[in-house]
Amino acid sequence: MCGIIGYVGRKQAAPLVLEGLRRLEYRGYDSAGLSVLRDGRLHTHKKKGKIDEGLARLLQAQPLEGVLGLGHTRWATHGPPSDENSHPHFDQSGRIAVVHNGVIENYERLKARLPGHTFQSSTDTEVLAHLIGVHYDQLREGKFSGSQVLKSSGGPGAARSPLENLQPENLMTQGAHPLAQAVMGALREVIGAYGLAVICADCPDVLVGARRGSPLIVGVGQGENFLASDATAIATHTREVIYLNDYDVVTLTPERVDVASLGSDTAKVQISKLEFDAEAAERGNFPHFMLKEIFEQPRTVENALRGRLNLDEATANFGGLNMSLAELRAVDRIVIPACGTSWHAALVGEHLFEEFAHLPTEVEYASEFRYRNAPLEKHTLVLVITQSGETADTLAGLRESRRRGHKVLALCNVVGSTIAREADGGIYLHAGPEIGVASTKAFTSQVTALTLLALLMGRIRTLAHSRALQVIRALEAVPRQIETILAQDDAIRQIALKYAQAEDFFFLGRQYNFPVALEGALKLKELSYIHAEGYPAAEMKHGPIAMIDERTPTVILIPADALYEKSFSNLQEIKARQGPIIAVTTEGNTGLAGAVNDVICLPATLEPLFPLLAVVPLQLLAYHIAVARGCDVDKPRNLAKSVTVE
Ligand code: GLU
Repeated sequence: MCGIIGYVGRKQAAPLVLEGLRRLEYRGYDSAGLSVLRDGRLHTHKKKGKIDEGLARLLQAQPLEGVLGLGHTRWATHGPPSDENSHPHFDQSGRIAVVHNGVIENYERLKARLPGHTFQSSTDTEVLAHLIGVHYDQLREGKFSGSQVLKSSGGPGAARSPLENLQPENLMTQGAHPLAQAVMGALREVIGAYGLAVICADCPDVLVGARRGSPLIVGVGQGENFLASDATAIATHTREVIYLNDYDVVTLTPERVDVASLGSDTAKVQISKLEFDAEAAERGNFPHFMLKEIFEQPRTVENALRGRLNLDEATANFGGLNMSLAELRAVDRIVIPACGTSWHAALVGEHLFEEFAHLPTEVEYASEFRYRNAPLEKHTLVLVITQSGETADTLAGLRESRRRGHKVLALCNVVGSTIAREADGGIYLHAGPEIGVASTKAFTSQVTALTLLALLMGRIRTLAHSRALQVIRALEAVPRQIETILAQDDAIRQIALKYAQAEDFFFLGRQYNFPVALEGALKLKELSYIHAEGYPAAEMKHGPIAMIDERTPTVILIPADALYEKSFSNLQEIKARQGPIIAVTTEGNTGLAGAVNDVICLPATLEPLFPLLAVVPLQLLAYHIAVARGCDVDKPRNLAKSVTVE
């Protein structure tokens, strides 16, 4: 959520920051802004709305010069999207500019302790900017960088900053640049999550960054350095990056990168080589990232399988689980915290683990799991699932589980992300950058990886060689089968056009296909703002069927499987109430003719693998309906990719 970028070097900062913001825009697009330093003054443009409609026009009309700058693309948490609430925000003097990703939870209390300050916005971020300014002014006046000014308990029951107990002398401020010291002093007062970039009109070649909870990386260049929320923003400029850890505060000049840690005496700093195909983050000839990513799925599923299939032993191999077979064998329960589409993939995983490995599995909303006292017995394995590896709720679930002494595995796409680094082991999806806000290829990669993990867990328990081999063979066929579904894109578009004006939709499926129904409904809601609900097919008669009429289409996933007749009865119940029906079934099934309005046929596969195929037409359906309704597919309203706030 929200993208930030900072630059210090010799090039013109504004075009570079603008280009970076464009690449980060999938993370938030309520508003955007940037500041650059020239002739001892900060020059700023910021504007509500998408970059090309706001900030880029301002910059075109009035270019800004300067070789130090920062920028932000916002997903509002505090204060509605508006020009005033756009970042950067400034301290009281207007000499310090701050861009922020995250939430300052105690901003109201901090604000109350800044009498005489005038605020221009209703954001939490602006309070932080003022606070940094207070600390900076104290330093300039030669006072200590501790928190004399704002020392206050915050009242009874008030939460305390995790850093509040640190004594000033342990704040690692010694030797740090005054701006970095001021940032450290301010952060000591703060409760919440932040990824920050800060510049000051007095410091022409200094860019300060800090993170806790929200992602931030340093791009190390030649005579220039960068800060960014993620690699997409800087991959065209440098391949050397430092993934900052929580509580790191970094000071960048064109020639130096100094990392200090607010939490310990020394920061752990490691320069990593970015394995990032910048072209993969381009839209190519596709009109939208989402469509491109849907069409990438034959390749991304193949990537998730690559090198992991062991045909001899009819099992799966993983390089990074960091658990021995004996440890995996000792697992007697799996808990999967996840959010959104990853949560739906987890629900498919629940079926897979139960069927292949007979392992009790529970799927948790990560946001709920974190605050519940969910029992985790000794041999419970926690497996978190996240595309970005930065999802705040999932990260909190991981940390809570590790705090309780549990090993946590992660299924994640973004290499080097916080969750990938903090998990004890895991599986990378290798799906390449997912830019479309509505997740598509990550889902199929997650389900592929879960199938492999379930196979492994099954094969060290009771799953027979022959059955496992059958699954492996069927998995190998999936990429080609997805291609045949994608070839039906035009037919699916025609169906989409027929129903594009509906205001309510149902998605039904049983067993493995119930999570797919949820995912189909979610795609439609996200992209087209049509009210859509996913249900287990047989659950309709317990209430929701009251909603069915001739204006309410139902998409039913009805493969020719063991439950076909049962699902067919559910379908008849909808039809009897005049509900239009779009059926997604198995090729060769002619039994639906006359019973439904539209049919989409998928190649035959094993029941557990049907979700990998069935989700594809639902993605296309949602996509085409949204396009037909004139919705912005890659930037749906109110949403943003990578949810880094709680
Ligand atoms: N809380 C800040 C705001 O509402 C930052 C939000 C973001 O991460 O974009 O402006």
